[in-house]
Amino acid sequence: MNNYNHILLAVDLSPTSQQVAIKAQHLAALNQAKLSIIHVVEIIPMIDINYETVSPFTSELNQILISNAEKNLSFFVSELKLTPEEQLLEQGDPRDEIIRVAKENQVDLIVIGSHGRHGLSLLLGSTANAILHHAVCDVLAVRLIEE
Ligand code: AMP
Repeated sequence: MNNYNHILLAVDLSPTSQQVAIKAQHLAALNQAKLSIIHVVEIIPMIDINYETVSPFTSELNQILISNAEKNLSFFVSELKLTPEEQLLEQGDPRDEIIRVAKENQVDLIVIGSHGRHGLSLLLGSTANAILHHAVCDVLAVRLIEE
């Protein structure tokens, strides 16, 4: 079996992300693979549907969301002493963004949690489910234990 060359770790920065990250870091070391980490900020659409204008309030809120996510991702990486070669902060729908980034960067393994912030109501969360169905590379869904 060939080694993985580029592993993409997707974290929603919920408390369970730590378990996913430790596993991805371990797999990267075993495979001597490049490790990248991605977090996707789910920004709020800027167009006010009622008035068809760009809402300055939403724009400000999105800036806060992005800046908080930047800080939280860096804190997460340093706390866990992760050593990703790339730290990616994207905006949009996590399902689409993770699949797009994986395709564009010749990722051969995506590591995700079996569920995340969207909870345990499903055996597999919605992001996990979409990635398993649509990614063009291998996907590892780490079964998470609630803390
Ligand atoms: P979910 O299916 O949304 O419960 O989440 C399952 C897994 O998808 C999480 O454990 C993460 O690995 C990944 N994921 C979900 N949301 C995001 C996000 N915004 N950014 C990066 N990864 C995410």
